[in-house]
Amino acid sequence: MVAAKEAMRNNLKFDDFDLKLKSYAKEHKTPIILDEGLVFLNQIIKLNNVKNILEIGTAIGYSSIQMAKRNNCHIDTIERDENLFSIAKENIKLSSLNDLINVYNVDALEAFDLFKNNKYDLIFIDAAKAQYQKFFELYEPLLNNKGIIVCDNMNFHKLIYEDYNNLSRSVRGLVRKLQAFEEWLLNNDKYLSSIYDIGDGISLSIRKD
Ligand code: SAH
Ligand code: MG
Repeated sequence: MVAAKEAMRNNLKFDDFDLKLKSYAKEHKTPIILDEGLVFLNQIIKLNNVKNILEIGTAIGYSSIQMAKRNNCHIDTIERDENLFSIAKENIKLSSLNDLINVYNVDALEAFDLFKNNKYDLIFIDAAKAQYQKFFELYEPLLNNKGIIVCDNMNFHKLIYEDYNNLSRSVRGLVRKLQAFEEWLLNNDKYLSSIYDIGDGISLSIRKD
């Protein structure tokens, strides 16, 4: 057995409500952002003085709650699943973050018009892994000049690559799509991009111009 990768050492603190959301996610197998990824995101937010974020993929609202309350930034977050949307809405209310976080119950691929007049300092893509390129291309025009695009779970395909032949056809398709997205991203000349082995793999893309 290869030893587990040592987790990033950090001083991230969680209150009781954060811990409740984390254990809910664990219990329900909701894939929320890992601690190391969260630290990295918060550092990007602070380094770039990010004020407005578009998040694609809310789930139970964990990552948006963490980003908003730790950085006091405004977040529009999109969740297509009605049940998760309701849970997220309730969690956001319980955290008293209604003023900072707006959650939308729509499919991000069909909702561009809702957001087309907004500008964002950061777009955080964390929804259906097979659609990353579509999300990127659709929402990229909403980035501010010094805007950043971050994608989570970029190592998803690596973690299961060894079992490739045992995977279901749909998961294999997903793995191929993420590999293709990685290649597309790293060859996209408009952006300076890299993929970090932080959390479940996080890509960071900044505009070159
Ligand atoms: N960002 C969250 C985790 C999101 S999990 C966190 O770290 O706490 C991914 C979520 O994306 C799921 O809840 C799924 O329902 C949602 N999703 C997938 N495809 C989507 C789409 N096309 N539009 C909106 N939401 C989508
Ligand atoms: Mg994720």
